[in-house]
Amino acid sequence: MKTYKIAAIPGDGIGTEVINAGVEVLHAIAKREGNIKFDVDNFDWGGEYYKKHGRMMPENGRDQIRNHDAIMFGSAGHPEIPDHITLWGLRLAICQPFDQYANVRPTRILPGITSPLRNVIDKELDWIIVRENSEGEYAGVGGRVHQGSPLEAATDVSMFTRAGVERIMRFAFALAQSRPRRLLTVVTKSNAQRHAMVMWDDIAKEIALEFPDVTWDKMLVDAMTMRMVMRPETLDTIVATNLHADILSDLAAALAGSLGIAPTGNINPERTFPSMFEPIHGSAFDITGKGVANPIGTFWSTVMMLDHLGEKTTAERLMKAIERVTADANLHTPDLGGKARTADVTRAVIEAIHGANE
Ligand code: NAD
Ligand code: MN
Repeated sequence: MKTYKIAAIPGDGIGTEVINAGVEVLHAIAKREGNIKFDVDNFDWGGEYYKKHGRMMPENGRDQIRNHDAIMFGSAGHPEIPDHITLWGLRLAICQPFDQYANVRPTRILPGITSPLRNVIDKELDWIIVRENSEGEYAGVGGRVHQGSPLEAATDVSMFTRAGVERIMRFAFALAQSRPRRLLTVVTKSNAQRHAMVMWDDIAKEIALEFPDVTWDKMLVDAMTMRMVMRPETLDTIVATNLHADILSDLAAALAGSLGIAPTGNINPERTFPSMFEPIHGSAFDITGKGVANPIGTFWSTVMMLDHLGEKTTAERLMKAIERVTADANLHTPDLGGKARTADVTRAVIEAIHGANE
């Protein structure tokens, strides 16, 4: 029996609801397989913890999860606490020190889900966005002085390092190489941002030489939004900076039907630290506590986690169960135009797991 140690950090809002569902599904798939097991430790970090202790996670929080095999994360974001405190105090406080520099975001139109793009069929939209997750525009470099005075000034400096760009490019080219189309689009803005983005382009060109069998092209980020909408079939693997990919991946999630479906992995490719898997949505205060949060984004990120752990057939079996459930409109939550509740979708996925054939 192979046992994996998983750290679950539900966080706030619907984070708790979807992670509870995700853990239930994780145990169900383990039971179905018979030869693997998950020890899940739950960490109550987040906004409520902050209200009691004045910080989002304990000072030695990272030490408590450093030796887990993977992390399942819900959402950081609390209605009574400013967003930059919850984000930097929890999610980024894990991603950056654990060097999870590749944020991987698959986008596909799952069976039964309708894209807002007219005429798009599922095979025409099958992307993986790789987001640089450790530096760039979210490096945290900057400052604010003379607050409240007419001299007030503030900067957010985007910072790119050669090492940081090389490793994300190498990761993206290798990922593109592993997919059937071997196609990579490098997103940039080197017309207007003439220092770091030009280095970004130069390094892409250098790394491309290591991957002669990958076809690649370069797109300015503004034109990229058009291409995603007008010619989705021309894209496959995509690499972009922290900010650019943040925005493009929300667009991608919407084009695939709903933010509630989209998954992501914050990957430490060297496996020095655990990687972290989460739905891309946030705390969704407007539906918190109503029992209608779509858990599919969390289930799909659980598939990514299983894949990262090397449990490929288990990952595939779970993905099939998810697709069987999305195919049934009676099992759609309100964000997809349906009437199902989180618990209905969770139960159906668990049933599909147990019913799934080889
Ligand atoms: P959000 O993702 O929480 O919600 C946006 C909209 O999508 C809302 O109408 C919400 O109801 C809907 N939605 C999101 N997930 C859904 C799901 N699973 N099922 C059904 N509907 C869903 O984004 P927001 O409103 O901009 O942010 C709310 C809070 O969450 C903020 O504090 C923000 O900082 C935080 N946030 C955290 C993360 C994260 O931890 N990774 C990501 C995004 C936002
Ligand atoms: Mn985002």
